[in-house]
Parts: sequence; structure tokens; C-alpha cells
Amino acid sequence: MALACAALEAHGPGPLKRKWLPAALRGEKIGAWAFAEAGAGSDAGSVATRAVLDGGEYVIDGTKLFITNGPIADFFVVVASTATEQRLKGLSLFLVERDRPGFRMAGSMSKLGVRASEMSELVFERCRIPAENLIGREHRGFLDALRALTLGRIASAAFATGVARAAFEATLAYAGKRVQFGKPIGSFQAVRFGIADMATQIEAARLLCHRAAIAADRGLPHGREANMAKLYATEACTRIVERALHYHGAAGFVSESPIQRFYRDCKVFELGEGSSELQRDMIAREIGL
Ligand SMILES: Cc1cc2nc3c(=O)[nH]c(=O)nc-3n(C[C@H](O)[C@H](O)[C@H](O)COP(=O)(O)OP(=O)(O)OC[C@H]3O[C@@H](n4cnc5c(N)ncnc54)[C@H](O)[C@@H]3O)c2cc1C
Repeated sequence: MALACAALEAHGPGPLKRKWLPAALRGEKIGAWAFAEAGAGSDAGSVATRAVLDGGEYVIDGTKLFITNGPIADFFVVVASTATEQRLKGLSLFLVERDRPGFRMAGSMSKLGVRASEMSELVFERCRIPAENLIGREHRGFLDALRALTLGRIASAAFATGVARAAFEATLAYAGKRVQFGKPIGSFQAVRFGIADMATQIEAARLLCHRAAIAADRGLPHGREANMAKLYATEACTRIVERALHYHGAAGFVSESPIQRFYRDCKVFELGEGSSELQRDMIAREIGL
């Protein structure tokens, strides 16, 4: 939803923005970001969904996979190739309304975590959309998508920091009240050190998030800042949640515990919107390697 709205807001034509953005911001319409495919996850240049201009319309063919909000969205920002041989330089963004003939949602997918949102496959079969539904310029879609994804990475970092913080706060409280060997477990050095590490990593993640968000808000370059915040915060979240579950013992493992939910949720932050390996690769490039 956020990626779809960010791309539309930054690069979409006026009529499309006026039609969809206010309603999306009011929560009356739902958007989805449709980039991933069976053969194109980290490797965006392998997008096989094609859009061909035919008169005043684009004709879209292809299948998208793992699309959050797929079963419920009213509109989709779809990444499709308008020049297949150009790979990244041949991608373009389109807005496709759910009721377009030739579009269908193919089956919801169940998942390990983040179950408050639904995910599905999307199929486009000779799906015709007006040429005015092009977002930004033809063949410039990758750069426009990257701008939205860079903002999305700051949001992912903040999301992960929030999950880590919730796990940390629950652990701090639990360590103070769970008594074993006649003492709260928080008085044992092994547990104290682990919780101190959690607190330190959360502060570091939070500062990296703030730095990236401030740079983005001020219109300053923020690619490297966003990548570092996303990489650090998401990996810290996984480490922190794992320790949180460990210090809760069986009480964290049972279905009633929020800790097991955090444990199932946290991994997605390291995968979506650029996996840790891609983040490291981009950071290495950004620091001159
Ligand atoms: C819950 C969830 C929601 C999602 N929602 C959406 C959505 O709304 N819209 C959307 O478009 N997509 C969505 N996705 C898909 C997501 O964007 C992809 O999962 C992500 O791009 C990674 O692609 P992949 O899963 O195909 O993994 P792959 O790209 O196949 O990667 C598999 C592994 O190989 C590693 N790898 C790949 N390339 C390299 C390399 N060059 N160097 C080193 N390691 C590498 C990766 O880091 C990873 O560990 C969602 C995924 C999940 C799990």
C-alpha cells in the first residue's frame, strides 16, 4: 500500500492521483505494489510481465507473486517491461484497477507471519489499460520504483525497530517478575547482559532510522542512510526477538504469547524490499567498493 501510494504520489499523472490518493489516505481504497514474480525477486531485471502499447492502450500480460493486499486491493501499481531486452532500463510502472477485464487474483497464500495482511498471486491476461495509466515515464520505471523502495526501506527499518522494542519491553518486564532459584531471572548476569545488548541495538537501530528519515524529509540524499537503517534494524530485530523468546522460555513459545508472533513476523523484514544481501551489496557500492 505505502509503496504503491509513494510511487503514485511522486510520479503519477494528476487525474490518477486525484482519483486514488485521497481515498487511499482515508483508508477507503486499498492499493498494492506488484513487482515480484516467480523469476524476479531480488533480480528486478528479470521481470517478465510485459506491457505493449496498442493504440491508446497498454496491453499487459504476466503473473505477479507474493503480492500483499492482492486479495483486497482496489488498485495495483504494476511493474512491467516495455522493452524486455533492456532489463532494468526497460521497466515501466502502471496503475491497474481491480475491475479491468483481463485481470484476476489467483488464490490467497498462507504465510508464517504478518498474518494481518493477505497475499496472493495476480494474473494479467491481455489486460488493457488506458495509456494515461502509465506512472512516470516509459522505461524509467526502475528508477521511480527505486525511489519508492528507498522510502519503503526506512519504513521497514522503523517497523522492525518497533517489533524489536515491543519484544524488548516484554522481556524487561518478564525478567523482573519471573523467579527461578529464588531470584528474578533478570538478576542473572547472562540474562542481564543479553537484555542490555537488546537495549543498545534498539537505540542504534532507532538512530539509524531517524537519520535516514530526517535526510528524506529534508530532500537530502538518503539512499545509503536508508540501506544502512534497513540492514541494521531488520537484522537486529531478528536477533532481539530470538533472545526475547529465549528469555521467556516456554511462556514465550505458546500461542497466547505475543513473543511467538514477533518471532514469526520478524524474518520478513530481512527479505522484503531488498534482502540483507542486496542491502550489503548496495552499501558496498555506495561506500565506493
Ligand atoms: C510477507 C511478504 C510480503 C511480500 N509482499 C510483496 C508485495 O506486496 N509486492 C511485491 O512485489 N513483492 C512482495 N514480496 C516479495 C518480496 O519482494 C521478495 O520476497 C523479495 O524481493 C526477495 O525475492 P525472493 O523472495 O524471490 O528471494 P530471492 O531473490 O530468490 O532470494 C533468495 C535468497 O538469495 C539471496 N540472493 C539473491 N540474489 C543475491 C545476490 N545477488 N547476492 C547474494 N544473495 C542473493 C537473497 O538475499 C535471499 O536470501 C513479499 C514477500 C513476503 C515474504
